[in-house]
Amino acid sequence: MRALQSSSRETTPSLPVAMGLAEACSGRAPAWLVRALSTISMMWPLVVMARLCIFLALGDPAIGRWLLGDTLSVGAFLTVQFCLDMAIIVVPRVGSFQRLAPHIQLRWLVPFIFASASVYALLCSSVFAVAGSAASLLFAVVMPSVVAVSIFGAQRILGFVYCAATLSPFLFEMPDTLPLAVPVAGLAGLLLAAIMQVRADQDNLQHRQDNVMRGEQALELLTDFEEAGQGWFWETDRSGRVTYVSETLVARIGKTTQELLGQPFLALIGQDPSGKATEEQRTIGFHLSARTAFADLAVRAASQEECWWSLSGRPVVSEFGQFLGFRGSVADLTAMRKSQAEVARLARFDSLTGLANRVQMQAMLEQALGGSSGHQGDCTLFLLDLDRFKAVNDTMGHPVGDALLRQVAQRLTRAVGNVATVGRLGGDEFQIILPAIVDRGELAKLAERIIHGVSQPYVIEGTQVVIGVSVGIAVAPFDGIDRDTLTRNADLALYEAKDAGRGIWRFYAKEMHADAEDRRRLEQDLRHAISTGGLHVEYQPVVTTATEKISGFETLVRWTHPERGPISPSLFIPIAEEAGLISQIGEWVLRTACLDAVHWPEDTRVAVNVSPIQFANPIFPTLVMHTLAKSGISPDRLELEITEGVFLSEGTNTEAMFAQLKALGVRLALDDFGTGYSALHYLRTAPFDKIKIDQSFVRGAAIKGSRNGAIVKAIVSLAEALQMETTAEGAETIDELELIRSLGCSHVQGFVYGRPVANEVVMANFAEQGVYAEASGFKTSREKRRTMFRSIKLLHGANSYDARIRNISTGGAMVEGLADVPAGTVFQIAFSANFMVEARCRWSSGDRMGMEFAEPIELEQVNSEAPIKEVVSTGIRHRAA
Ligand code: C2E
Ligand code: MG
Ligand code: MG
Repeated sequence: MRALQSSSRETTPSLPVAMGLAEACSGRAPAWLVRALSTISMMWPLVVMARLCIFLALGDPAIGRWLLGDTLSVGAFLTVQFCLDMAIIVVPRVGSFQRLAPHIQLRWLVPFIFASASVYALLCSSVFAVAGSAASLLFAVVMPSVVAVSIFGAQRILGFVYCAATLSPFLFEMPDTLPLAVPVAGLAGLLLAAIMQVRADQDNLQHRQDNVMRGEQALELLTDFEEAGQGWFWETDRSGRVTYVSETLVARIGKTTQELLGQPFLALIGQDPSGKATEEQRTIGFHLSARTAFADLAVRAASQEECWWSLSGRPVVSEFGQFLGFRGSVADLTAMRKSQAEVARLARFDSLTGLANRVQMQAMLEQALGGSSGHQGDCTLFLLDLDRFKAVNDTMGHPVGDALLRQVAQRLTRAVGNVATVGRLGGDEFQIILPAIVDRGELAKLAERIIHGVSQPYVIEGTQVVIGVSVGIAVAPFDGIDRDTLTRNADLALYEAKDAGRGIWRFYAKEMHADAEDRRRLEQDLRHAISTGGLHVEYQPVVTTATEKISGFETLVRWTHPERGPISPSLFIPIAEEAGLISQIGEWVLRTACLDAVHWPEDTRVAVNVSPIQFANPIFPTLVMHTLAKSGISPDRLELEITEGVFLSEGTNTEAMFAQLKALGVRLALDDFGTGYSALHYLRTAPFDKIKIDQSFVRGAAIKGSRNGAIVKAIVSLAEALQMETTAEGAETIDELELIRSLGCSHVQGFVYGRPVANEVVMANFAEQGVYAEASGFKTSREKRRTMFRSIKLLHGANSYDARIRNISTGGAMVEGLADVPAGTVFQIAFSANFMVEARCRWSSGDRMGMEFAEPIELEQVNSEAPIKEVVSTGIRHRAA
């Protein structure tokens, strides 16, 4: 098609005089003539150049004579011209010439024509002795024509000029044959008409061929379109019966074309199950009968499978305005409808568990509560939060976490049966809506069942996983009649359940509101206290068990409320964490502690508690670094106490944080060990220097029958294996202290060695007592120990040693002054010259040892005796008189 188009454009009518005239006149030019004319047209510049040469040659009488003989005749001239044209027709068909022929643009043509015509006119006037006026006339004809060509590029004008120029010498040479000019001009006109006819025919032919080609192309495109399933076509007759339908469309609805042809068009559209006309059928039926166009009407197809179409159609009328039928297109909407349905489903359901999601649960709760109708429905809302899920997710990976959530969802669904709807709100939060249940006994049983079911072990990828769940319950209409109130109250109940130790359920109670309100007020006051310097810190000594040397102090924040008095950090720290105030408090505590520790003895450490929220902050290591740099204390004097909570907070890269802190050189202690999940992998992965055994294991460990001692011992063995130190927290009594010592804890912290005190007191104690602490407290099964600083003599065999009593009770004493005494060694303790007791070394650490008297003594007697100066070993046991 492109070939046809270009040849039509290049075809230029031209003039081979007296050639094919008859055929041209008969209306349709033969192909050879068309080709010849095209060739001449294409070779136009060459024609002009050849002509120019010939005329130049003819201008030389010698050449002219040689060429044409003595008589220059018009006949000879025309013959030459004719031959030239013939040559022009033939020569371009010779292959070698085609290769050589230069491509000359039309713009080159203009000057050639101008030059050719000028020379031609001059020759006419000189060679053929035509009157100058005639030459001027010719000039006047040729020149404007040439200019017109150059301006308009009109090829017909060019043809006309050629014609006129060719005929002109004939007319001027034989003025007496001027009467012949009229028929000749007529002939020329005919010739021109023939040429135009040829051109018009050629254009027509081209046009028809173009149309056919376009039609074929359109057909191919339509077939492709149909086969690709992007759309189909249909046609009906005047009575609305199908006369054409795309084959692929027919295949879609599982019928054959033969079955459909001649059927009413509405048979393509799906019917109501009851057999009644559907809404869509009625709409389309209306358009067909009203003969009005319709577009993009979504209809269900009359097919077995679910199939949706978008139908468009318009009435077809003949050129006389007569209605012929309908014609239209069909687009397949099935995939789009399905994906829309999927999107709608995803918008309402949780993709992981398949349970209803938050949006759907909210809608259902609203519906259960009576929705916008204002009717208050009875319904119960359970809010559930999984315990320890974060730890599972973090340690075992997200795929395990996902599998766990799916299993939890199944257990919950099983537990509630079909009386309730279970939904997942996100993360490890679930919700259950029970319409119309108000019996609290029943609800409590259900909550028990849920907790029990969820707490059973799960096996995921061959590993056993155990988690728990806490449940908050709010019952409508008592605990709220609208969605938001009920949800908030269930949330308060859940908060209480978690606060009360997790794995339990709580009904909402009004007091919870009061608690929440109280927390809110405390939060306000805390903000105020922070901004007005209402907080201060105290330090509690941490003592090395073996030597009783103070290894460091734990920093404990204190808040004295203007009205309520001192408030425990166990109460206000969680509030600060929730209110986003903990980072501010923590930063201040860290800075204060480091600045205070600068004035302590060089090797005394300072421990600071770090909230999981502080720990989750990526800039925390930088903050620690700056604080250390500002205070100037050595990093290994700072101990950061971290609870297991850091492993549970979302989004914390704990390992990276540990690595950064260790890189700073600070020490890390795992605080309150044993109260959380005590998952041993924490100890494996985190580079702790110390484990702080929670007070709950220490307290009462010395009481007969308590298993706490065994637990402490196990923790100590574990820590020793991991080369970590241990601090037993909360030792209050001498018995506890001794038990801790015997169990091998490396450090002790507790009231037995001192309560938290202000830095001034710490400094004063350092000045007065040095770096050793003195245990003081009740001995649960014995008399209280008395602190004492009394010089004694220790007699062993023939040897006598100077020593001091640090504390004493009726059954024993702590003695300082003799290093590395083997346990079991028996000494005579000489309190005075005449008061001696036998005592056995129970333990020894550094230069201290614990001694047990062979028999109880009277402490008053010790006090009444004058301190000893010199004792001579008698080798016998001395007793007070
Ligand atoms: P903790 O880190 O385990 O601190 C030890 C707690 O045990 C302190 O309670 C301390 O006063 C108390 N204690 C020490 N020895 C004994 C004892 O022999 N008997 C008894 N009954 N208690 C003893 P406190 O000061 O009330 O602090 C409670 C908790 O508040 C701390 O537990 C710690 O988790 C948190 N806390 C305190 N100060 C800060 C702080 O600056 N930042 C952060 N994030 N938490 C802090
Ligand atoms: Mg602590
Ligand atoms: Mg602790």
